[in-house]
Amino acid sequence: MKYLGSCHCGKVAIEVEGEIAGAVSCNCSICTKRGSLLWFVPREQMKLTGESELTTYTFNRHVIKHRFCKHCGVLPFGEGTDGKGVATAAINIRCLNDFDFSKVPVHEYDGRKA
Ligand SMILES: [Zn+2]
Repeated sequence: MKYLGSCHCGKVAIEVEGEIAGAVSCNCSICTKRGSLLWFVPREQMKLTGESELTTYTFNRHVIKHRFCKHCGVLPFGEGTDGKGVATAAINIRCLNDFDFSKVPVHEYDGRKA
């Protein structure tokens, strides 16, 4: 399945290949404030347009790149590596276009302890 998504103003767009079996709601300091629902996929499954319109925020150990649109402030995805060193994208499924995220099972993740 192919999913299309974007930031609010549309300058940043993503195309993600994969099946959404579930999403993660995390209670770490940034996810609490942002309210993202995250779907993790290998980074190579995501195509990005408008990269120059993104800005990047990092904190704590600076291993996750929080990528958000510098015009509208919406974050369609973050980037990092998984435990095996594979480049991974955390897609914010709230940014997918015409997508009913209320049907996706949500797993709570205790990011405050991680
Ligand atoms: Zn935007």
